[in-house]
Amino acid sequence: MPRIYLLSEHTACRIAAGEVIERPVSIVKELVENSLDAGANIINIAITGGGIEAIEVVDNGCGISQEDTPLAFQRHATSKIKSIADLNCINTLGFRGEALPSIAAVARLSIKTRVPENNMGYHMVIKGGQVLRKEPVGCPVGTLINVQDIFYNTPARRKHLKSKSTEGGLIADMVYKMALIRPQTRFIFSHNGREIFRSPGSGNTLDVLASVYDVRTANMMLAINNQEQDIKVEGYISKPELSRSTRQQITVAVNGRVVRSRSINNALIEAYRGKLTAARYPVAVLLIWLPPDKIDVNVHPAKMEVKLSNEEHLQLLITDAVRRALRETGLIPHPVKMP
Ligand code: ADP
Ligand code: MG
Repeated sequence: MPRIYLLSEHTACRIAAGEVIERPVSIVKELVENSLDAGANIINIAITGGGIEAIEVVDNGCGISQEDTPLAFQRHATSKIKSIADLNCINTLGFRGEALPSIAAVARLSIKTRVPENNMGYHMVIKGGQVLRKEPVGCPVGTLINVQDIFYNTPARRKHLKSKSTEGGLIADMVYKMALIRPQTRFIFSHNGREIFRSPGSGNTLDVLASVYDVRTANMMLAINNQEQDIKVEGYISKPELSRSTRQQITVAVNGRVVRSRSINNALIEAYRGKLTAARYPVAVLLIWLPPDKIDVNVHPAKMEVKLSNEEHLQLLITDAVRRALRETGLIPHPVKMP
């Protein structure tokens, strides 16, 4: 029998990082989710070279205290849950305490962070899991995280990255989706020093739709709303005159988290049956709210998929909400009642 070895923390962390941090967009997603969890209402995201060269996320959230900052880089260190029971009522985007240690395991990460109670902030630089610097620093309240040398110690992963423009495009799409589902937060996104996108943070999804697409698109949207007991579906869907050739412009959030869900997409598309030609899809922002105990977010390494209980019921609610909105535009005739 071969011998069994317990891997060192360092090795375990590098392996775990492979699941959470697949490409630059994974880093952006984790950092922005942390900013949202920290209560930020302004999040500035700047990438260089498609996010392969550098990623910086700056927020005006609650910051991390000096004593907690080193802890934030330890695996399974989180301020968001305390016990397994808390997993049933998660209302934060993070809870596994994996993102920061994973990013710091495969890149060079610099953090400057300050809590409102302190005059000074704290600065740490970590590369490949090794702390290179830690010192007090003057900085605004909130958190700045800068990531460089991404995948420098995992050449296989680096080799699998696509072109800068493809990786940058994936990041832009993620930022747009997060901005669309968090209209009260102002997102600013720049690439190679040039501002690409800015959402106003007005709280109005239509304003974000106008920033992501254009005013014409925002004007082609219909509001949807449906609620049954503790399940709520809201958001915006496009009139059938406006359609796209991919499902990419369908943004779905469950309890404030961007997710990919074939069944939710299908429920939406089903409602357009007969209204869109084959291989055309709507633009939509669907916000779904469920009691936290009806959803399991702990089924996917990057939490991009969630498990829903009673999925068919949710699908019916979505299809019904979308059909009603489309009917009100007069495009789908009211069902004719038999005399
Ligand atoms: P998780 O989000 O699952 O808790 P992370 O590794 O992403 O794990 O972050 C670890 C901890 O660091 C968080 O629980 C939080 O307390 C703190 N943290 C990370 N990013 C920020 C931020 N931008 N602002 C405030 N606190 C943060
Ligand atoms: Mg996190």
